[in-house]
Amino acid sequence: MRRLLIAGNWKMHKTVQEAVELVRELKNLVSDVNDRDILVCPPFTALYAVKKELEGSNIALGAQNMFYEEKGAFTGEISPLMIKDVGCSYVILGHSERRHIFGETDELINKKVLSAARHGLIPILCVGETLQEREEGKTKDVVERQVREGLKGLNETSEFVIAYEPVWAIGTGKTATPELAEEVHSFIREVLSEMFGAEKADSVRILYGGSVKPENAAGLLRQPNIDGSLVGGASLKAESFAKIIKFD
Ligand code: PGA
Repeated sequence: MRRLLIAGNWKMHKTVQEAVELVRELKNLVSDVNDRDILVCPPFTALYAVKKELEGSNIALGAQNMFYEEKGAFTGEISPLMIKDVGCSYVILGHSERRHIFGETDELINKKVLSAARHGLIPILCVGETLQEREEGKTKDVVERQVREGLKGLNETSEFVIAYEPVWAIGTGKTATPELAEEVHSFIREVLSEMFGAEKADSVRILYGGSVKPENAAGLLRQPNIDGSLVGGASLKAESFAKIIKFD
């Protein structure tokens, strides 16, 4: 059985002090949770302080992005060694905001995924179609391409996570219905099965993201192929994120 993973993507929010206050509150609210994995992904500037606050807790730490080289003349970039050093075990890669605002391509994202895996970080590869692509009936084509290109060259022994985040559902308040999300999730698992074999595909966690809130989390997370959630806005308040984590 796949263990649920509930991840918070804080995006470009929270100063160091705000970040520490948020995880201090969160860790108290979820200290009794032991049947699912919990992850927070603060901005780079808060990672070190948040890690210190999380010591001894049941909450893991992740970064929201990274570059694929270990070090060098790459002004403004952060390396896999650096995020590992600061205590991250996960890294979000290929988020739709990286793809659409910062022009990240499947090729670049693939380099990052391979580098993360090589450095013992668990990549969370984000995929998802735009509204126009959905309306044109291209959802499966887009998602399949992003999964295949993003994971190209990855060894099936590497641990990775997929997050299906329809772009039209991110930060818009429009959530995919549980049925619609489940359809894409089971399709992604078929693609993974072709790429890595059925056993590996069965073990990969596929998260849903896009306007997940305490009110809609249970319906989504009860679907057989939805193994957790990548939560943006609702992860910025300890109480609402804790409610999502503790859905039953
Ligand atoms: P949202 O963001 O929950 O605010 O829609 C999700 C995400 O972008 O990961």
